[in-house]
Amino acid sequence: MALKYSSKINKIRSFALILIFVGFAVMYGGIFFRESVWAMTIFMLLGLLFIIASTVVYFWIGMLSTKTVQVVCPSCNKSTKMLGRVDICMYCNETLTLDPALEGKEFDESYNRKSLK
Ligand SMILES: [Zn+2]
Repeated sequence: MALKYSSKINKIRSFALILIFVGFAVMYGGIFFRESVWAMTIFMLLGLLFIIASTVVYFWIGMLSTKTVQVVCPSCNKSTKMLGRVDICMYCNETLTLDPALEGKEFDESYNRKSLK
């Protein structure tokens, strides 16, 4: 399966959404262990933990959003937010970069990990 890139904020957002679903699924799973109060409690707590984790991730998105740079996408002319040195347009998946040296290069997540020296 080909790896589909999406903008980082969208990626984190879908991750948080998955955590919520997993949390509810785990909590729902607890119903099957009704006979054992302990098993059910553990399931409920685990589910709650996932939901708390997703809340933390959502909070993290909020923090990250303050660090994003608002840019106008050269491809679709919509204003999009980008994070790090390279990111992808939220609307048309066009590669965006703040570093002129990387302009025109193939999108590579690893550019974000290199230091800005
Ligand atoms: Zn675009």
